[in-house]
Amino acid sequence: MTRLVILGKQGAGKGTQCALLAEHYQIPHISTGDMLRTTVAEGTHLGLQAKAIMEAGELVSDEIILGIVQERLTQADAQLGFLLDGFPRTDAQAQGLMAMLAPNKIDVALDIDVPDDVVTERMLARGRDDDTPEAIQRRLELYQAETAPLLELFLKGGVLVSVDGLGTELEVHARVIDAIERNR
Ligand code: AMP
Repeated sequence: MTRLVILGKQGAGKGTQCALLAEHYQIPHISTGDMLRTTVAEGTHLGLQAKAIMEAGELVSDEIILGIVQERLTQADAQLGFLLDGFPRTDAQAQGLMAMLAPNKIDVALDIDVPDDVVTERMLARGRDDDTPEAIQRRLELYQAETAPLLELFLKGGVLVSVDGLGTELEVHARVIDAIERNR
């Protein structure tokens, strides 16, 4: 059973590392960003609301996010572990997650650490629709204000693992596996 949470700024390489980790541990990669993008593509009312919020680099409401995660975690493939990517991003989401999992807990919260200037360059280079300079800046501000404090929470819970996110995908992957195995 492996219940992992991946933290880190946008552009820290979470998506890439999650794909490698999901394969390594044979657990589903659950990305709230991907689920939201699917909702946007479906063009529903919720999708239209989410699209505007995502393009501005703002956060979708905790209520909506907790709803989609709760639904996803009840599916059969998530019963033997999972990898949460891009969630939790706020204290309310972290509290909601813990309540959902109780009496179980997260095994490891992995922080992939990359400096702001590097993630900014990477995000501009990947050129997704929502990667405008203004949205990138706003997401970094929100990361500092809302998500960085969660590191402290997971540290207190004894599950935080931080790795240096600079280097090739495979170098970072090796560091990640090593750190996870040493800490669980
Ligand atoms: P990501 O693919 O994780 O970079 O997410 C893309 C966008 O989706 C973010 O900039 C947010 O607008 C939204 N989003 C994804 N996950 C969350 C979350 N856990 N809480 C709030 N908004 C989210």
